[in-house]
Amino acid sequence: MALLPILTAPDPRLKKKSKPVETVDDSIRQLMADMLSTMYAAPGIGLAAPQVGVLKRVIVIDAAREGDPSRPLKLANPEIVWASDDDNAYEEGCLSVPEHYAEVVRPRAVKVRYLDETGAERLIEAEGLLATCLQHEIDHLDGILFLDHLSALKRTMILRKLLKEKKAAERGEGTDTEKSADSTQHTL
Ligand SMILES: [Zn+2]
Repeated sequence: MALLPILTAPDPRLKKKSKPVETVDDSIRQLMADMLSTMYAAPGIGLAAPQVGVLKRVIVIDAAREGDPSRPLKLANPEIVWASDDDNAYEEGCLSVPEHYAEVVRPRAVKVRYLDETGAERLIEAEGLLATCLQHEIDHLDGILFLDHLSALKRTMILRKLLKEKKAAERGEGTDTEKSADSTQHTL
């Protein structure tokens, strides 16, 4: 198990489209395992391969409620094959957009086809937080961040702050924006 460094916005690699996995082999299984450890350590409830600089269509998720048994999901080539007409709004955050949260509206339920870690094709039906998480992570595979669902003004504001924080960190300065997420915010 290795913890992988997580890229933060703005970074050109987060805007790229990831390539499909050809075969779910040992290297993909290792990537999935490392991504899960990285996600739990962060902590977050979802992580996509491009966030650790690997442009492959792989995501991991654990949207179990706090206190419930963990429910890790490892997906290769996930694809939304159905989405509900009605929507849900969640306060979303992202490990690649640290310390910033915003409400994003997405379909309430989705069906996603994917390959599991043995390479078998599976279909998952999800609603609520898990559905939001799946959509957020699949967006990453297409170079889309939750910021791209916000107004241009809000997106620019957050990106500008992130860039400032990044530069401050490079200079070895701390920032005073550290705060813990409240229970309605989800880091995906
Ligand atoms: Zn994210």
